[in-house]
Amino acid sequence: MNIGEIISAVELMRKALALLREIVNSIAKKPDKERAENALREAEHAFQIAEAKVAGELKYQLCKCTWPPQIMLSKGFRDYSEVFKCPRCGKEFPPPTPDLPDDSRSAPLPATNFNGRPLSSL
Ligand SMILES: [Zn+2]
Repeated sequence: MNIGEIISAVELMRKALALLREIVNSIAKKPDKERAENALREAEHAFQIAEAKVAGELKYQLCKCTWPPQIMLSKGFRDYSEVFKCPRCGKEFPPPTPDLPDDSRSAPLPATNFNGRPLSSL
């Protein structure tokens, strides 16, 4: 099975779940409706796990902010590497480089006397 066939199978499963959701929503009687909704929730959960597993096999980045994991989608390139973003929590991979405060370690401090006044003012 190639990638295109896998993606088609996932899309068909998604459509099947949407159709089942419509059927469950059309059930009027309460005990039957609750039973159908529970079964549909289990099917949707199993589908999400299968979808994440397929995404992992296709080398997609997965965000672990939920179970089943969220599939991170490409949002373009930053510094020659592709960046992926979680649609649920917004986390990015690789994470953005933090802006570092001005690093003054390389600049020598002005010489001061014991009062903290610059030596040049003496
Ligand atoms: Zn996330």
